[in-house]
Amino acid sequence: MTPEETFSKYVEDSYTTFQTVKEWKQASGRPAVGYFPVYFPSELAHAMGFLPVGLLGASGKIPLDRATAHTQSFVCSISRSVFQLVLQGNLDAMEAIVFSNICDVARNLSGITQRNVQRTRIEYLHLPINNTSQTAVPYLRSEYERLANTLFEVGGVRLDTEKLRESVELYNRKRALEAELGMLRGSRPWALSYSSYYSTLRAGTLMPIESYLPLLERFVEEAKQVEGKAMDKIRVVVLGTFCEQPPLGILKAMEDAGCYIVQDEGLVGERWLGRIPLPQGKDPLTALAEGYVSNPNVLTVRYHPGLDKQQRILEKAREQKAEGVVFLTPKFCEPALYDYVIGKSALDKEKIPYLHIEYEESASSFEHARTMVETFAESILFD
Ligand code: SF4
Repeated sequence: MTPEETFSKYVEDSYTTFQTVKEWKQASGRPAVGYFPVYFPSELAHAMGFLPVGLLGASGKIPLDRATAHTQSFVCSISRSVFQLVLQGNLDAMEAIVFSNICDVARNLSGITQRNVQRTRIEYLHLPINNTSQTAVPYLRSEYERLANTLFEVGGVRLDTEKLRESVELYNRKRALEAELGMLRGSRPWALSYSSYYSTLRAGTLMPIESYLPLLERFVEEAKQVEGKAMDKIRVVVLGTFCEQPPLGILKAMEDAGCYIVQDEGLVGERWLGRIPLPQGKDPLTALAEGYVSNPNVLTVRYHPGLDKQQRILEKAREQKAEGVVFLTPKFCEPALYDYVIGKSALDKEKIPYLHIEYEESASSFEHARTMVETFAESILFD
């Protein structure tokens, strides 16, 4: 199997069955922990013997009837499809599932999931709200310790500092390779289709990192060798896809309609930490907490008054020589819509063209989106 075929196999499996997780558990005798986006300290779970598994929704592959009976009609699709997977027993392979305080929906999802499962341990990670406070790092470190205690109760393995150090280095390597792939898409987007790039990142939330890294290394090397030349398309930055994942069809439709997606927020929580510096003698749990609190990059669901979101959106567009920005936001996602309002006023001031499209992960018809993008691309190309 090529790396690409392996990545696709894992992604397909994660929509419903999680057979790959069951097989890993059977072979290793170790537990798995599912996590709801956007950000989760996978290093910590890995160091304690768990397989961290990203729960990114069912992408329209299952009916949401049971989840819909428990939730309001105005909540986003990812929350309902993850909950439906829980209710159907598809996530029974996870010994624990972790949610965090990214938004009101995720907060409540944690509670109703807890009420509706018996065997799975549900944990809620309280990420700091005020990231400029001097107590934010010690606070988050104590939250990570609390999470480690839960994982110990579930898996029976205590957190070991040396193991955590090794895990942080493994995930540093993963993020560095994913960043390299992202830069390749920015500089030579014709060399790597967006769907291949995306499947690669998504597989990274599912595969054991020891199996993922060698395949990722090979995939990056192969992508670097691809030749070709740019087509007559506009370069766009896509914002808003940080939690609920857009159907691949809408991204393909955008590319077919004349766009190169040169930067995006898909699975951004996986890549966002960048490199966690670990000098000799540094406590790795504190380093992990500092990585979250002090990160100089904007993350929609992390409030940081020291970071200027408008400035960052403009920088992103300039760095990528983007000719336009597409706000691709999940239906009913408040954090994405707040950022849209902030972003569009910055783009208006700088006269950078932008387009707003809403999606649901289960959508299967993209003609309307394609027409909107075609018109947008033509208005830029023939301006
Ligand atoms: S898609 Fe938006 S509203 Fe839904 S859980 Fe994610 S951040 Fe919250």
